[in-house]
Amino acid sequence: MKDHWQRRIGSTAVLLLTVAVASSTSAATDDGAGSVKAFVGARIIDGTGKPAIEKATLLLRNGRIEAVGTSVKLPAGAQRIDASGKTIIPGLISGHSHVSDASQLATYAHYGVTAIFSLGGDKEIEIRDQVRAAEQTPALTHSRLFIAGPVVVSRTPEDARKAVDDLAAANTDIVKFRLDDNLGAGRKMSPEVYSAIFEEARKKGMRVAVHVVYLADAKAVLRLGADYIAHSVRDSDIDDEAIALLKKNNAFYCPTLMREVSTFIYPERPAFLSDPLFLKWADPRDLARVQDAAFLDRMRNDRGGQWYKEHLPVALRNLKKVSDAGVPVVMGTDSGPAGRFQGYFEQMELEYMTQAGLTPMQTLAAATSSAAKFAHAADRIGTLEPGKWADLLVLDANPLDDIRNTRKIDSVWIAGNRVPVN
Ligand SMILES: [Zn+2]
Repeated sequence: MKDHWQRRIGSTAVLLLTVAVASSTSAATDDGAGSVKAFVGARIIDGTGKPAIEKATLLLRNGRIEAVGTSVKLPAGAQRIDASGKTIIPGLISGHSHVSDASQLATYAHYGVTAIFSLGGDKEIEIRDQVRAAEQTPALTHSRLFIAGPVVVSRTPEDARKAVDDLAAANTDIVKFRLDDNLGAGRKMSPEVYSAIFEEARKKGMRVAVHVVYLADAKAVLRLGADYIAHSVRDSDIDDEAIALLKKNNAFYCPTLMREVSTFIYPERPAFLSDPLFLKWADPRDLARVQDAAFLDRMRNDRGGQWYKEHLPVALRNLKKVSDAGVPVVMGTDSGPAGRFQGYFEQMELEYMTQAGLTPMQTLAAATSSAAKFAHAADRIGTLEPGKWADLLVLDANPLDDIRNTRKIDSVWIAGNRVPVN
């Protein structure tokens, strides 16, 4: 009875949240419900990897894309938005981030990240349940959410199977576990336990994402059917066997280069700490933490950070290698924990991906269409094509000229709503 009552209170709260979102949206965008709007005169990069279309029109109706191209006719009553000189790209999607509070979905949105895959956390199921209803509506103004739910940390095969069953019952989007000894400082999950995770996940029709560091571990989990390599292989160069396994599994590869950078960069006082875009939405407590003298001292002397710094070139080489081999790459950062700034780190990840040798177009595809495919949401988001939600960024400069132009944000739109700027 009590349980039933709590659930009813819960759904009322969700309803109120949805109504609040809907009313703030119409105030922010100054148009009615069921609106038709058209961005006119823009350069459009649709996220598929196809060349940009110049001087194009993007027509939206009820939060979704209705038409895109150079010969789109504006219906009577459509709100015309002049986008000449602007570039429109799909909203960025991160395949590896973390949320611990629903409000963080607004932070991601401010930086142009319109969907995230939160890859493991104890609050993810609860947060997903809070926001799921709003995601199906054209009133949405914050980032969409996919989740792994609690990371499987079991010590026995029996516990591992139970943990996977729980995730399946909660209908999470993937099963996640870590195969990592923290550079020799900790104990790695045994093959017996993680084999049980794969067996049970297969039984339940769940995909499996794995946090790895070493090439040998990546190959071990790929042999068992891993669907997602959630960080770069960092100890050595990826070999042909690993490439073949990634392809055989139709697995995705997520480099999280900013996770590496976050372990050593702060003592150098990174330039981004002065970027107005960064400062506009960064959590002040987190900002204070990464400038604290004791923190900087610890980081300077951290052996782990030094190792990750020394091995960043390996991670960059491996990204280029898997991309050249045709393995689908997904942009991700591991943002969320302290010192890994949500939204802005996704912006920086794009720059590091091009430093690895990916073209801006390949990088954008990894952060849009490829990430949507990984999330099993390519029918709804990830490209600017008819039928998809109108999740997009209007930029003041062309990211194909310089990928950092994705930070020159004119406006962010989710389900056709302009994301409020304060
Ligand atoms: Zn992570």
